[in-house]
Formats: sequence, C-alpha cells, structure tokens
Amino acid sequence: METLVKKLNFFSLKKAKRLVRAGQLVAFPTETVYGLGASVFNEEAIAKIFVAKGRPQDNPLIAHIADKKDVLLLASSVPPDAKKIIDAFMPGSITVVLPKKPTVPDRATGGLDTVAIRMPASKEARRFIAACGTPIVAPSANTSGRPSPTTAEEVYADMNGKIPLILKGKKCEVGIESTVVDFTGDIPVVLRPGIVTRSEIEAVLGKKIEVLTDTTQKVNSPGVRYKHYAPACPCVLNLDGNKEKIVARYDEIKAEGKNPVIMCLDGLKADFVGLNVFGMGESDKDFAHNLYGALRELEKKYDYIIIVWNADTEFADSVFNRLERVAAHNLL
Ligand code: AMP
Ligand code: MG
Repeated sequence: METLVKKLNFFSLKKAKRLVRAGQLVAFPTETVYGLGASVFNEEAIAKIFVAKGRPQDNPLIAHIADKKDVLLLASSVPPDAKKIIDAFMPGSITVVLPKKPTVPDRATGGLDTVAIRMPASKEARRFIAACGTPIVAPSANTSGRPSPTTAEEVYADMNGKIPLILKGKKCEVGIESTVVDFTGDIPVVLRPGIVTRSEIEAVLGKKIEVLTDTTQKVNSPGVRYKHYAPACPCVLNLDGNKEKIVARYDEIKAEGKNPVIMCLDGLKADFVGLNVFGMGESDKDFAHNLYGALRELEKKYDYIIIVWNADTEFADSVFNRLERVAAHNLL
C-alpha cells in the first residue's frame, strides 16, 4: 500500500475523513505523540491497528474525542471525581478510564469492561477527530516496542506501506504519552504517569489518590507490562549523574570497539567534554519533548546509549517511567 504524507489542512482532512469512514487507518499529530487512528465503532478497522503496529491484542486503546460531551458516547457512567478531572484538565494530556458502554467494541478495550478516553489539547488532533465525526481510537503510531513517534517522519519510518495516510502536523509538544487515571474503583489510580502530575490531580480532587507501582502484579493497565520504547542499540540509565561512573562505562564500551554516546540535559554536557554527548535541552520538559526523536536519531549513529537522568521534579518521575523501559531496566 502506498503511504501518503499530507500536511494537515482542509483538503487532507477531507481525505482522512473518507478513509476513516471506510475503515482505514490514518496517523495524526497530538500534543503527546502521533496517534494511529481508526473509528472507535469499526471493529475491522481497529483490528488493522493491531496488525500495523504488531500490538498485543490485550493492550487496550485510548478513544480520542473532540468534544467533552462525547465522553457519554463511550462511558456508561461518569463518577464525580472523574467529572472534576474532566472539567479541570480536558482538553489536555490526560486520559480517564471509565466503565464502558456496551456499544464500544471489546476489541478497542482489549476485552476490558472499561474504556480510556482523552480529549487532546492539540488543535490539529481535535480538527482531525471532529472531521471524522466519531471518536477515534488511537495508540501511538509506532511499531510496538519502538520509541513513540513525535514527528510525521518518524511515523513514516514505522508505518510506510502499512497505512494509507499520515497527517503531518507539528512536532509533538509534550513528547511523552498522556497521564492515564482509572476512576472505576473507590480511589482514583494513576496507571501511567505523564505531564499532568499526581499532585495536580490531588489538588483538584482535594484528596489523596493512588499510583500504580507494581506493574507486574496488577493487570488493570495491560500496556504497562509490555516491552516499550526500545531503541535499536543497547541503552543504560544513570540516575545519579556520577561523572566517574559514567565515563568509566563509556570507556569500557569504547574499549570493546563500539561507539557510545551520552544523552543528558544541556547543563551536564560540560562534564563530558571530548566524549560523544547529545544535549536534550535545559529542562525536564525539553528532555521529554526531545526524548523519542533523540533515541531514533542516536540509534542510527551510535551503538550504545548512556542516558543520564538526575532531575527530581514530579514530572521527572514521569519521564523516568519511560526511561526505565527505554533502557530495559538496565541501570548504571
Ligand atoms: P498507548 O496507546 O500505547 O499510549 O497505550 C494506551 C495505554 O492506556 C494502554 O497500554 C493501557 O496501559 C492504558 N489503557 C487504555 N485503555 C485502558 C483501559 N480500559 N483500562 C486501563 N488502562 C487502559
Ligand atoms: Mg504506545
């Protein structure tokens, strides 16, 4: 199949709508990462998402909406806490898990009786969803296990030949996936951390919530169990910024005849003068914004990535959640 990349505009949106309505897949920009979209009510189209990505069948998808009232097309009820969070953070980089309506196909939710719903902050994403006239289920538009795409070019690298259309928009501002919060139990639980943090949620709710930590035990967010975001070369994660340790590892890899690189915030670059260093910007937000693109770029030039991450903001923990998987839990 030929894969077209079209700038997102009036004309490409018309085409996108036609394709989605005909049960095809269209990749589109959001502020978190690029999504691979299909109509939420078209089971055959949803099946194609799993094939194009090589995604495990039990890994549920997030349904994206362009209007808050569409929550009611998907959820059978909206508990008061969820309502507060929807009012406070939507549109935004947060996903709420609610009991699903029977009309939402099991295929979209990995067989769960809950549905994950998000209204993106990205105007481009909302234009696409609104043009289609239906909620759009969309995982990240990458091959499963690979770093998520944050540009149309990165989508093309993984999806060329597999989908008919990629809508090209801005590079994703946030750069990591949404915060996922489950509202189906007594206490809300953060299933996946993101740019909306636990304390921001607690401030709105006026009470403490939980954060899923043991991802091996609980299966209520199936996706967190799978291999994720892996670059093509080995990767190690350092969390203390200890220069001697980092340089020692760098030298070891070099002595093996390989070409390593250090990925860190700009402020740390001075520690590694004369070595291959890739600066990720000044703040934790810059780092997240650059993360997946940097991995895709560095894997082409180097054969070992040392990631240094010693930021200690609450958002830094959300980035850490991704880095742990990028490095396949390989810590230095
Ligand atoms: P991705 O589309 O790759 O960003 O992954 C979406 C993730 O959201 C899944 O892997 C799950 O961890 C989570 N998710 C989606 N739907 C549900 C649901 N119904 N219940 C719990 N978690 C969900
Ligand atoms: Mg993904």
